[in-house]
Amino acid sequence: MSETHKDHIAVVTGASRGIGAAISSQLATAGLTVAVHYGHDGKAAAEVAASIEAAGGKAFPFQADLGADTAAQDFWAAYDKAAAEAGVLNQPIHVLVNNAGVTLRGAIEDFSREDFLTQQAINVNAPYFIVKEGLTRIANGGRIINISSGVTRIAFPEIIGYALTKGAIEAFTLTLAKHLGPREITVNSVAPGVVDTDINAGWLRGNEEAQAGVAASSALGRVGQPDDIASIVAFLASNEARWITGQKIDATGGTNL
Ligand code: NAD
Repeated sequence: MSETHKDHIAVVTGASRGIGAAISSQLATAGLTVAVHYGHDGKAAAEVAASIEAAGGKAFPFQADLGADTAAQDFWAAYDKAAAEAGVLNQPIHVLVNNAGVTLRGAIEDFSREDFLTQQAINVNAPYFIVKEGLTRIANGGRIINISSGVTRIAFPEIIGYALTKGAIEAFTLTLAKHLGPREITVNSVAPGVVDTDINAGWLRGNEEAQAGVAASSALGRVGQPDDIASIVAFLASNEARWITGQKIDATGGTNL
């Protein structure tokens, strides 16, 4: 276990599966105690925490629906309750990863206002208010890492609303980095290309043609995996990345170079 991260806490949103689960596992391997946030799949989150503990790490799950109007208050109240049970209440948080997200796929003409606002609530409002309400909890010298998407650079007309939310996350990252610089908190985003997770299950899983198309569009010739993204987050969380802030790291395997 790394001495650098001894007694450090990481909070990862949407960590019950996919990229968030991989991030939790890699941060735990780096020595952080990981608060595994989940929305609705408590069993999966408990399994992520249990597998971290089985590997010698420390983790505990907590629940909050990030689509709710009171998401940030619910989030921090649930965190406090779980942190108290884990014996780490009021310990500063060293790493916050805003990973939870949803993708609405389809033509802009077909989405209702309500559909759009729900996606906006989870992808944009939740990270903003979790940070705003959580700023005093984050340690000076800490890290905020936001998961954006390659779709802010590569145009996919079937996910216009989603692209808008991720563009907002990148602007948030840039400006928050400037605001938190005096506290030596770094703020960066990671922009994955297509990664094999449930978010893409509907069109990618079991569809060999789609998988081949994604692989062919990447310079590295394959579909991304959750650990490809998690290792970049673990690096940004490390002491070695202390001089990087306000940046986006493109993690698309060289898609559409
Ligand atoms: P995923 O669907 O497996 O994970 C998304 C996570 O967000 C899940 O844990 C889910 O429970 C959580 N979540 C969704 N709605 C929630 C809500 N209302 N309240 C609380 N939690 C909620 O997908 P993933 O690929 O692991 O996505 C993780 C992040 O990566 C997302 O921000 C996504 O936009 C981003 N991303 C993914 C890809 C990709 O191709 N997989 C590409 C670019 C960006």
